[in-house]
Amino acid sequence: MRVDIVSIFPEYFAPLDLSLIGKARANGLLRLAVHDLRTWTHDVHRTVDDTPYGGGPGMVMRPEPWGEALDSLAPDELSPDGHTLPRLLVPSPAGVPFTQAVAHELAAESHLLFACGRYEGIDQRVLEHAATRMRVTEVSLGDYVLFGGEVAVLVILEAVTRLLPGVLGNAGSLDEESHAHGLLEAPLYTKPATWRGLDVPEVLRSGDHARIARWRRDEALRRTATRRPDMIDALPPETLDERDRAA
Ligand code: SAM
Repeated sequence: MRVDIVSIFPEYFAPLDLSLIGKARANGLLRLAVHDLRTWTHDVHRTVDDTPYGGGPGMVMRPEPWGEALDSLAPDELSPDGHTLPRLLVPSPAGVPFTQAVAHELAAESHLLFACGRYEGIDQRVLEHAATRMRVTEVSLGDYVLFGGEVAVLVILEAVTRLLPGVLGNAGSLDEESHAHGLLEAPLYTKPATWRGLDVPEVLRSGDHARIARWRRDEALRRTATRRPDMIDALPPETLDERDRAA
């Protein structure tokens, strides 16, 4: 997957050299480039913002540098190797909520382009114009407001990269974790079997795989019902058996 990120703070993305994302980059599963929006300014102060039309507090990101950045990273002329326009993602508290389902959708794309807003956000015409030639999605991390889109991009990229084939050593983890099947994961334990007077549940030490699977499913259902009743309500009834309903 190719990923381009445009930001006025390229330094924010230094952690993308670390851990499994760094490894995915090193072995070519993720081709990632970070671009400084100010590259596409032409004045001596490298200005990217101005006061909002209609008044009000704060500053708004001017459309010209963004327009040039998008023209440069998503040119209209398609190359003979079948290059297609990227999917443009714009973090925004007014966007669609970012979920595991959206992460799966994005993991199937070949090229993502992220536009990181700052100040009060980006002039709306940038998104309108981009939408005339590529798919544009405003994505929200949640119902709160951050200083800028950089942290949102880090979160989205982590969630998407771990879904790319070959990134996780054990792809089975993807199938068993929270949100994989509309449930939260059951509690996890490791050695020692007893710690500070607290025992690991006996069933997990039994070696009985069927019992362990049933215990995990029951715990996942209980935990989800307690913490996220909205997720239980959203489960398709046909995915629940008699025992599930009892849990
Ligand atoms: N004026 C905007 C509003 O009220 O919707 C908030 C702008 S915020 C201070 C600056 C930038 O942070 C946004 O353009 C966006 O890129 C990013 N941002 C803030 N909160 C976010 C969230 N919940 N999810 C994704 N991005 C967010």
